Amino acid sequence: MEAEVVVRGGHVLTMGPAGTITDGAVAIGGGGIVAVGPAAEVLAAHPAAPVVGGDEGIVTPGFVNAHTHLSEALVPGMGEDMTLFEWGARVVGRAGMHITREMARVGTRLKAAEMLLSGVTTVNDMFCHTNMGTFASLGAIDGLEDIGLRGVVSFGAEDVLDPHPVAAFLEEHEALADHAAGARLVGYRMGVGTVLGQTDPLLEASVDLARRRGWSVHTHLAEVREEVVQARLRWSRDTVERALDVGLLDVPVIAGHCIWVGRVDVGILADRGVAAAHNPVANMILASGVCPVGELQGAGIPVGIGTDGAASNDSQNMLEAIKAAALLQKVHRLDPRALTAPEALRMATIEGARALGLDDRIGSLEVGKRADLVRFHGRGIGLATVHDPCQQLVYCASPADVSDVWVDGRALVRDGALAEVRLSDLVAGSRPLADELVTRAGMQDLSCRARPS
Ligand SMILES: [Zn+2]
Repeated sequence: MEAEVVVRGGHVLTMGPAGTITDGAVAIGGGGIVAVGPAAEVLAAHPAAPVVGGDEGIVTPGFVNAHTHLSEALVPGMGEDMTLFEWGARVVGRAGMHITREMARVGTRLKAAEMLLSGVTTVNDMFCHTNMGTFASLGAIDGLEDIGLRGVVSFGAEDVLDPHPVAAFLEEHEALADHAAGARLVGYRMGVGTVLGQTDPLLEASVDLARRRGWSVHTHLAEVREEVVQARLRWSRDTVERALDVGLLDVPVIAGHCIWVGRVDVGILADRGVAAAHNPVANMILASGVCPVGELQGAGIPVGIGTDGAASNDSQNMLEAIKAAALLQKVHRLDPRALTAPEALRMATIEGARALGLDDRIGSLEVGKRADLVRFHGRGIGLATVHDPCQQLVYCASPADVSDVWVDGRALVRDGALAEVRLSDLVAGSRPLADELVTRAGMQDLSCRARPS
C-alpha cells in the first residue's frame, strides 16, 4: 500500500521485534502501519509520501493509559489530604451523584486533549457515578469520539454508599455497551467499581450479566489495606478471593492497583489471567501503598501503567506516570534496577495493550497494526541531547516535547498543538460546568474559591 505519510525520527522505539531503530521511519496508510525500518529504506519505498520529522527526535507507539476515570475530569485539585475511602465519600462520591452526560462529554474532551498532548493514544476508562437514570457514562464515549482518542469504556457501578435498584445499574451497563458498539474507536468492558463497594446482589447480578454477554471486566482490586480488612470482616475473604468465589475472574479482567496482594492472591490473579494497571501517582497522592510490580510480572501478569482519575493524580499526564512508575519501584526497593526505563516504556505501550487484550492491534510499531504513534521533537530542552533514547524519554521528556500524535492514522496533534480543536475552547467550555458540578454536589467546602482566605 502507498503511504500517506512517513514519520521519521533519530530513534524509533518500535516496542516490537524490530527493537530500536536508529534514524528510522514509520509509513502510515489507510489508518495502519505499512512499513517500519531504517529511514533510507522506508523513504525509498515511499518516495511520494510527505515526511514528518527528520534525523532527530524520537518516535514511539502511542501510550496506553491503562486506567483512569473520566468522571473525575471536572473535579481535580481537591482532597489531597484524604485517604482513599475518605476521598471516595467526600470527593468523587459526591460529584458522582450530580454529574450529567453533558458534563461527562465536556470533561472527557478536556482530559482526552491532556492525554493526547502527553502521548496517549488509547485510554481504558471507568466512568463512576450514581446519578442514575441520566446515563451520564455515555458522555465519555461522546467526548472520546469528538476528539478521536481510542478508548475502552466501562461504567464503574457501586451501590453500597448510594443505593439504587440493581436493575438501574445493569440498564446503564447495557446502554453503554450499545453506545460503544456504534462508536468508531471505542470498545467496552463491564465496570465493577470495586468488589467491596457493591452489595452482594449487585455483584452477583453483574457477574451473571458479564458471563451471559461475554463481556470483559474493568475493576479495582486490593488498592488499600482498609479494603482487605473490611472484606475479611464481611466475607472472611480478601477482595481477590471474593472476586474468585463470585465468578468475577471467570471473564477477562483488568484490575487497577493490585497493591495489597499476598502470595495466594498473586497466584489467583496469574491463574485466572487477570491483568493489572499500575497507577503510581494516584497511589502516592492517596498514600495507598506500592504495587509489587516485579512480583506480578514474575508471575506472568501483564502490568500496564495508568494515570488513574483526574481527582486522584490529579493530572492526566502520562509521561509523569511513566517516570513515577520507575522512581517509585526504585526507592521502594532501594534498588535502581527495580524498574528500568525500557521496562517502564514497555508497560506504557505493548504491555498496556496486552493487559487490555488489544496487542494484536496496538502497542508496538509493526506492519499491520493500527497507526497509533507519537513523535517527540528534538528541538526542545527535553530531548536536546539524546544518549539513550529510553532513559531520555522516561526521565527528561515532558508534554512540551510531544510534537505529533496519530490515532488510527489520523493526525490529532501537529507541531505540538491539537490539530482539530482549539485547546482554549475546551478549557473555556469546561469551567462553567465544573463550577456547576461543585455547587450542585455541595463541594464548596473543598474549593478555596468558597473559603475565606
Ligand atoms: Zn481508579
